[in-house]
Amino acid sequence: MNLAEEIKKLKKEMNAVILAHNYQRGEVQRIADFTGDSLQLARKATEIDADYIVFAGVDFMAETAAVLNPDKTVLIPSQVASCEMAIFLTPEMIEEARKKYPGAAVVLYVNSTAACKAMADITCTSANAVRVVESLNEDTVLFGPDSNLAQYVAKRTAKKIIPLPPNGHCYVHTNLMPENVRHDGVLLVHPECPMEMQNEADVIASTGGMIRYVAKSDAKRFVVATERDMVERLKMEFPEREFVPAWPDAICLGMKQITLRKVYESMKEKKYVVKVNDEIASKAKKAIERMLEVS
Ligand code: SF4
Repeated sequence: MNLAEEIKKLKKEMNAVILAHNYQRGEVQRIADFTGDSLQLARKATEIDADYIVFAGVDFMAETAAVLNPDKTVLIPSQVASCEMAIFLTPEMIEEARKKYPGAAVVLYVNSTAACKAMADITCTSANAVRVVESLNEDTVLFGPDSNLAQYVAKRTAKKIIPLPPNGHCYVHTNLMPENVRHDGVLLVHPECPMEMQNEADVIASTGGMIRYVAKSDAKRFVVATERDMVERLKMEFPEREFVPAWPDAICLGMKQITLRKVYESMKEKKYVVKVNDEIASKAKKAIERMLEVS
C-alpha cells in the first residue's frame, strides 16, 4: 500500500487538513498541508475550513487546535505524543505563584497543558515571547514553563521575569551545549537551549524564525541547534543549501511517535479525538487569542 497516496485519498473523503510541526519526521512533513512552528500552526488552526484537523505534533499543540476549533474534530495520531516540558508546570504552581506575586502577569509558553493555559493572562511562543511580554502593563511577569526561554526574554526586556518553575526545560534542547555541538557553519540556536549555547549563536530564533533568517542569508552551510528533524524542514525549503544538526542525538521522542502509518490509521479509524473540557477550553482560548492579537 502506498501510504502517502492513501492519506491523500482520505483527506479528500474526510475533508481533512493535516498540520505538521517542523520537528516531525520528513515523511510526515511531506504529506502535510501546512508545516510550521507553534505560532504558525496555532494561527493556521484559526483559518482552516475543514471538518477534520489531523495534528502531526505533540499533545499541547493538538489541544491548542481543539480549543481554537470547537466545531471541528481534531485528531492526534498517537496518544503518547507528549511534550516533556509541559509537565514541569501544574495549575497548583500557578495558583501559589499568583498568591506570592500579586499583581504579576502570568505568561505561559504554549508548551503547557490546556489546564495551565486556562490560568494564564496570555500565552506566547518562542517566536513572539518578547513581543507578548512587552505588550503587558504589568512590570513583573511569571513566565513558564521554560526557564531558558524565560532567560532569553529577561535579557530583552526591562520587566522583571520570574521563571515558573525555576528549572523547567526541554530535555532535547538542554543537552545542546557548546561542548556537545559542532561549530562548522552559521550557528542557528533555538531559545529553549541553555544560555551557554545561546551565547554562542550567530542567530537565536524559533524554528519559523530560522527559516526566515536563512531566506535572507547568503551563507551556504548552517548548523542547526534544535530538534534534529528541523534540518529536514530546512532542506525542503532550501535544497541548494547545506544543513547539519548541531547534535544528531537531539531527538524529541514525543514528536517521533507520529509516523506515516499512524497518520493513515488515525484518519482511517478517526482516532484519537482531542477533547478539552469546555470550561478550561473557553478560558485557555482567551489567553491564546490574546497572544494571536499581539503577534
Ligand atoms: S522538543 Fe522539547 S519542548 Fe519541543 S515538543 Fe519535544 S519535549 Fe516538548
